[in-house]
Amino acid sequence: MAVNVMTADGLIGTSLIATSRLIVPPHLAVIGPYLYWSHASESGAARLVSGKRAFDEFMKLRDRAGILTFARKYGVLRLCEHGLPATHNPGSLPANLGGSIYAGCEILRLGAVQRQLSGADFRERTTPWRSFARQARAMLALAVDLHTGRSGKAAYWRILRRSWPRLAWATLQSGSTVEQEWSALTLYVNDWLALGGVRPIMLMDAAGCSPKLRLQVSLFGILAVQLFLAIARASTYAWCDGCGGLYEPAERRPKSGQRHFCPGCRGSSIPARLRKENQRTKQRSGKTAGGTHGQSSPSAGTVAT
Ligand SMILES: [Zn+2]
Ligand SMILES: [Zn+2]
Repeated sequence: MAVNVMTADGLIGTSLIATSRLIVPPHLAVIGPYLYWSHASESGAARLVSGKRAFDEFMKLRDRAGILTFARKYGVLRLCEHGLPATHNPGSLPANLGGSIYAGCEILRLGAVQRQLSGADFRERTTPWRSFARQARAMLALAVDLHTGRSGKAAYWRILRRSWPRLAWATLQSGSTVEQEWSALTLYVNDWLALGGVRPIMLMDAAGCSPKLRLQVSLFGILAVQLFLAIARASTYAWCDGCGGLYEPAERRPKSGQRHFCPGCRGSSIPARLRKENQRTKQRSGKTAGGTHGQSSPSAGTVAT
């Protein structure tokens, strides 16, 4: 299976692993704390899209407007009443025993009155979206530090602990080794893969002679796969001094003490502005001001919850 992460445009967690396409409902709306959607509507039928850039954009989600924009591109998380992807803990009874091997929890179908009021068939809360995006940012930030042999920052572990307390937290206490922290992070990533119902399936081409393996994924499933890929490659990431986000330098790891910028910031006026500010500070204080932080120190923006 080919695995590749695009570097030139700074994407994180993209993959060429063959995955199923994502379904984008034609009707989507955010009303109050909910995201509403329908599979079919007057505005058209569902679209099938590639989830290639999904994780990179998901990680940046912080508000309802962003969630709606994201859902219009990649679809919905299909959350159940527990605020989890409905693929969590799937049932395992075969059909002759009264079940379906793909049956899991249920997405939330609206009653007749709510359908009429909202013009949609389903809804899910937006709070879990923000929580999962926070978890993704924290996991990646922890991986960047762990890859360099340092313990992850307590603030990031707290985010995971708060959002996802059911994991055996006892395995991770203060003074844990980097290996123990990697084990804990692995548990979280595996939980995401399980929640997303990621499973390989066999596919036959039209001629019936070339069987292939493909990952069957929901939106949450592809996010989990891309989370894994991003964490596996986190040793090559650097923190951008312009926007505070993570990016993958195209050529070499930047030297610590030197400012470095993601492709988005490099193309903007941010580096020049920061240089000017830096010069002014130097002139005023007569001191030397170097880079603000090394490549493994997240700026405040990336820790924001
Ligand atoms: Zn459930
Ligand atoms: Zn940047």
